[in-house]
Amino acid sequence: MQTDLETLLALQADDVIIHGLEERLAALEPRMKELDQRRQRIVDACGRASAAVAAEEKKQAWLREKILEHKQLIERNQQQMDNVKTMKQATAAVAQMEQARKIVAGEESDILALNRRLEELRGVLNAQATDLAAVEAEQETARAEVGAERAAIDGELAAMRAKRSGAAEAVPAQLRVKYDRIRGRKRVEAVFAMNGMSCGNCDTAIPMQRRHIMNNTGAIDLCEACGVLMYFPG
Ligand SMILES: [Zn+2]
Repeated sequence: MQTDLETLLALQADDVIIHGLEERLAALEPRMKELDQRRQRIVDACGRASAAVAAEEKKQAWLREKILEHKQLIERNQQQMDNVKTMKQATAAVAQMEQARKIVAGEESDILALNRRLEELRGVLNAQATDLAAVEAEQETARAEVGAERAAIDGELAAMRAKRSGAAEAVPAQLRVKYDRIRGRKRVEAVFAMNGMSCGNCDTAIPMQRRHIMNNTGAIDLCEACGVLMYFPG
């Protein structure tokens, strides 16, 4: 038959293990987040490069269409040249053609510059896609490791929680309520052995009278200074 203290300490031992497992689980979060953030930065860069390529391609298509239009205009002017009757008409037609040729020449130089820029942007996009593939391949192992670790901890946690609920049932209800309330205040441990004449947690001296009672009856007492449960170590 376990004493109250023994049941309480068994429960606390399980809770400390559960707390450790929960901490390990929480510690995996930043690792996963770091992997995600690193990948996301490259995904974002790919998105920006891809948008830049698309914008330049749109300009390129528009410019090609303009060049085609203006070349057709020159052709029409050429045909009109054959039909001019007067010198004045001929001069006007030549001037018009010159104008159209200048425009086309300007547009062709624009499209050359644009093609070069597009080439560069496609290079950037390709490099980033390669980066992304490399990072994803590199992260595959790390993600698998984190996943396996998480699954292992989850398994241990489930087993420990089942064990803990058995241990909790062995503790007298009143004592368990006290213990749970004290642990609820973000304390990992709620039960402390006395350290000489003092509370084992906060080191506040405990009056002799109370120490005697604890020593003689095995009673579990509350430290008025820090609020934990104390017992006299046997
Ligand atoms: Zn204390």
